[in-house]
Amino acid sequence: MRNWTALALLLTTAGIAAGAGVRHGGLSVEYTDARDRAQLGVVFRAWDGAARDLRAIGLDVPATVRIEAAGGAADLAARTGAPAGIAAITQGNVIHTQRLSALAARGLLPFTVRHEAFHTAQPAALPRWLAEGLARTFSGEAASDPPGATGLENLPDAALNAQLLQRSAPRLNAAYHEATRRAGLLLRRRGWRAVLGL
Ligand SMILES: [Zn+2]
Repeated sequence: MRNWTALALLLTTAGIAAGAGVRHGGLSVEYTDARDRAQLGVVFRAWDGAARDLRAIGLDVPATVRIEAAGGAADLAARTGAPAGIAAITQGNVIHTQRLSALAARGLLPFTVRHEAFHTAQPAALPRWLAEGLARTFSGEAASDPPGATGLENLPDAALNAQLLQRSAPRLNAAYHEATRRAGLLLRRRGWRAVLGL
């Protein structure tokens, strides 16, 4: 495999989408930038922890899931149509992410894996705001949200769903914080299984 990796690196350097893939149980990870290989252990540990913690709240990750790590922000946007600033997006059983080493450098990689693992396992019928609020709570991202008002407390749920599709970063962040605040209120009142409808 050593020669294959060297070839992948060479092709990437040449600007050709090369990539490599590796399996870990039902999870496969395909990456574009050969440097992402160094992050696979972090990804697998985060995935295994997420799968275990999801089982504890009554959810299961699908039998097979693929993580496709883009070569960069523009590559991710081109693959998914998602705004360039996002860390990752899950479409069915495929998790599209930014370059793994870029997420790791920003301290986001384990949170991102857990967040998207939640999306692969969540009931399909959850409204968008609740799915995002729960995913950010499950992942641990919610713990570093700024305290205090989000400014969106009075926004109806449907309008909050629409605001979660925003491309303006400040408004999008406020929408995620508000979704997480609302999900937290529900979780404290009713617990995970009731909120998930299990
Ligand atoms: Zn999400």
